[in-house]
Amino acid sequence: MMDYIVNVGLEIHVELATKTKIFCSCKNEFGAKPNTNVCPICLGYPATLPAVNKNAVILAIKAGLALGSRISPRLLFDRKHYFYPDLPKAYQISQDKLPLAIGGGIKLDSGKFVRFNHIHLEEDAGKLIHDPETNKTFIDFNRAGLPLIEHVTEVDISNGAEAVEFLTKLKQKLIFAGISNCRMECGQMRCDVNVSVRKTENDPYGTKVEMKNLSSFKAVASAIDYESKRQILELESDHKIVQETRKWDEQKNITTPMRKKEKAQDYRYMPEPDFVSINISPSDIESIKNSMSGGIDELLEKYTTEYAIPLSYSKLLLSDKVTNNYFENCLKILFKPKEISNWIVDELFKFKTGTSKNLNELISEEYLCSIVNLLDQSKITRTVAKTLLEQTILTKNNPIEIAKQNKLTGISSEKICALVDAFLSQNPDLKAQYKQENKNEKIVNFVAGNIIKQTQGKADPNTLKEYIKKQLKKR
Ligand code: ZN
Ligand code: MN
Repeated sequence: MMDYIVNVGLEIHVELATKTKIFCSCKNEFGAKPNTNVCPICLGYPATLPAVNKNAVILAIKAGLALGSRISPRLLFDRKHYFYPDLPKAYQISQDKLPLAIGGGIKLDSGKFVRFNHIHLEEDAGKLIHDPETNKTFIDFNRAGLPLIEHVTEVDISNGAEAVEFLTKLKQKLIFAGISNCRMECGQMRCDVNVSVRKTENDPYGTKVEMKNLSSFKAVASAIDYESKRQILELESDHKIVQETRKWDEQKNITTPMRKKEKAQDYRYMPEPDFVSINISPSDIESIKNSMSGGIDELLEKYTTEYAIPLSYSKLLLSDKVTNNYFENCLKILFKPKEISNWIVDELFKFKTGTSKNLNELISEEYLCSIVNLLDQSKITRTVAKTLLEQTILTKNNPIEIAKQNKLTGISSEKICALVDAFLSQNPDLKAQYKQENKNEKIVNFVAGNIIKQTQGKADPNTLKEYIKKQLKKR
C-alpha cells in the first residue's frame, strides 16, 4: 500500500460544570427525571427571551485560557438553523462569526503541537431516547439549553493513538481547571471526528468524512484507523471519496454510510438578535486568569523543580483534582512538600487500592500532617508513624490521641539516655571492644537494636546511635 498522509480533525463538545443552564435558570444536573428541569425558555416557547449565564461565559473563557487560546474582545451569538425533534426553537444559539476563543492547542509527548482552530460557546439540544420495545422515541429536554463549549481542532492529528493522547490531555486540563467533569458515559464529553487522506504535503486536503458521537476514546482511535485505511484502499482502486457522515459500528469495527454531510450554508447562520453584544475587556480576562490556579503544566514544573519531587510522584499528585487538592491542602497545614508527597504516594495510595474512597475520606489532611509532624520532630520513629497511619485510618481518631493512649510517644530522651547508660555499664567490655577493634558500626548497631527493642520501637534510631557513639568514645 502506498504511503498517504492522514489528516484528522476533532470536534469536541464539552458540557460546562455550571449550576444552571446557559440561557435560563433551570438546573444543570445529570440523571434527573426526564423533563423536570425545563421552562418556557429552554423549551423554545414564543416570546421568551434568553439571558446569558455569566458563569458559563467565565468557564468558557477559562477553557480558552487553559488551552492557550486568544479570547475574543466581544461575546456574540449566532443562530444555527436545523430541523430536528430535539431542538424546540428549530435553531441552536451558537457562535459562528466570532467564536469566544481563537487558536491555542495542546502539545503531544512527541513534541507535535495540535492546534485549535477555535473554541465556541453554545447551547445543547434535548436528548432523544429510543425505546426498542415500543419502537417509540421519547425526548428529554433536561439537556436542552445546557452550556456547551465546542473545541474545533485543525487537521493536525495523524492517527488514532495521537487522537487518544490529545483527548486525554484535553480532558485532564478541563477537569483540572474545574471547567467540566468530562464524564463521557454521561455525555459530558462528546467527540466527532473527520478524516481525510492525501498523497503528499503538496496536495490539497482530501475529501473529509465525518463520524459523529463516538462513545469512547477507544472508539475514536479504532474509527480513525479503520476509516483512513478504507479511504486509502478506495483511492488505490480509483474510487472517489464521498463527502458524507459515516457511522462507526462498534460491534463489527467498521464504518458505514449514514447521510450526506450538510454544508455550512444549510444552517443559514444569522446573528442572534435577542442579544446585544457584551464586551470582554482585557481586565475582565486578567481577573479570570488570576482566579485560576495554575494549570497542570505549571504545577508539574513547580513540583519537580521548586519542591524537588520526582517526576513520577509529581504526575501521580496531578493525576486527578481530588488527589491534587489533598496534597495542596496538606501543604497549607504543613509545608513539607517532599515528605508529604512521599507519604501520599508510598503509604496512602496503598490504602486507596480496592476502594473508591478519596484520600480525605481515608484520613483528613490535618491528621496526616500531624503524623508527618510527629515524625519530623523525632517524637516517633518511621515504623511507629506507619502504624499510627494505619490506626488512624482504621479508627478515624486523632493520631495524636492514639499515640498518647498507646504510649507511642512520651519516651523522653532522658529516659533513652538512661537506658543506654545502664546497658553499657552492664556490658563494660563493649566499650573496650569499640576502642580496640574496628567493629565500631557493629557495636553501635548492637546497642541500638537492644534499646529499640526495650522501647518497642519508640526510640529514634538516628539520635539514638549518635548518643551511643558519644558514650562509647568516652573514657
Ligand atoms: Zn429552562
Ligand atoms: Mn456544536
